[in-house]
Amino acid sequence: MKILVLNAGSSSLKYALYETSAEAAAADTDQLLDEGLVERVTNMPDALKTAFAALAPALGGEAVVGVGHRVVHGGTYPESMVIDAGVESTIDALSELAPLHNPRSLAAYRAARERVPDAIHVAVFDTSFHQTMPRHAYAFAIPPRYLDEKKIRRYGFHGISHRSVALRFAKLQGKAPEDLRIVSCHLGNGCSVCAVDRGRSIDTSMGFTPLEGLVMGARSGDMDASALLHLIIREGEDPAALLDMLNNASGLQAISGVSNDMRDILKAADSGNERARFAVDAFCYRAKKFIGAYIAAMNGADALIFTAGIGEHSAPIRAGTCAGLDRLGIAVDPVLNSAASHAARCIGNSPIAVWVVPTEEQLMIARDTVTCVTAQSS
Ligand code: ADP
Repeated sequence: MKILVLNAGSSSLKYALYETSAEAAAADTDQLLDEGLVERVTNMPDALKTAFAALAPALGGEAVVGVGHRVVHGGTYPESMVIDAGVESTIDALSELAPLHNPRSLAAYRAARERVPDAIHVAVFDTSFHQTMPRHAYAFAIPPRYLDEKKIRRYGFHGISHRSVALRFAKLQGKAPEDLRIVSCHLGNGCSVCAVDRGRSIDTSMGFTPLEGLVMGARSGDMDASALLHLIIREGEDPAALLDMLNNASGLQAISGVSNDMRDILKAADSGNERARFAVDAFCYRAKKFIGAYIAAMNGADALIFTAGIGEHSAPIRAGTCAGLDRLGIAVDPVLNSAASHAARCIGNSPIAVWVVPTEEQLMIARDTVTCVTAQSS
């Protein structure tokens, strides 16, 4: 069946068309028919019109049976959901917690529902995979009424990606996910680490929003909340401006003074730029701390996996992140690490094996959509 995947970002719309089914997913024979990106989206119905026009040859007059929508914040939904009025209003309500993301997904859903009203529309959430975290991992150590009444807690993000690499790695090993403990590092523009204990996320570095944890392209990651309150209360700074600073003007961009793009920063560091070198060191050090923490959380690990733009493509960042972890059982092989390859591959045969596994978020969304479509129509 033809499945359309839609991923609405802050100003773009990524789309992909698959021919797949439950059987194809099980046999790993799903076919990506076409994919593309509409940039500078100001009007979602127009963006979808562009996408459908581009997809017409691949569709060949056939109907789209299911549409999988990537939704960043799914609150406490533990799995992907067929979007009905209730799910739609929950996604809408969660816009308060994810104001940059959920409204875009909703706009894409509403436009797609107009365009393909007979298709089954499915929401695939970045948060669902982390719903298996135990309370001691997701609850902040503050009075419980903030959790109970205001839903202040760790939700975790990048769940579609962490789940995808954990499943792919298990398949490559010929093992069940339940037999593996994995530390998954999604290092892209946004970055997070996840402890996948026997197929289930038990902890992850992003928290209430995608701001917490690692140093990212333009996000600060961890910092003491009281430093911000100090700036607000004692220095009279504007809370909204600080929030914007932390999300859009921090991270690698701020500390390197070069760019938010790791390629530019590595180039500058190689040519002697001290701030760029410091940014690379800070990025790798923060990632390393979380890797150590999650090995402790699982009392060991079978594999450390790198994925996403930086994780898949940057040998120096993988080497820098793993440097000095040999006593924990992690060592990157310099030859394997620097081999030019886009395939899933081992880059270190240490006691904790080190792997690069390309993330397959779109495919995960397509497969979840098939699962929901199949359940709905049976
Ligand atoms: P997003 O989180 O937006 O999906 P990606 O996963 O595509 O982002 O990752 C984007 C990041 O990957 C950018 O910071 C870019 O610099 C980095 N990147 C891509 N290729 C390389 C490379 N060869 N070396 C270093 N960084 C890279």
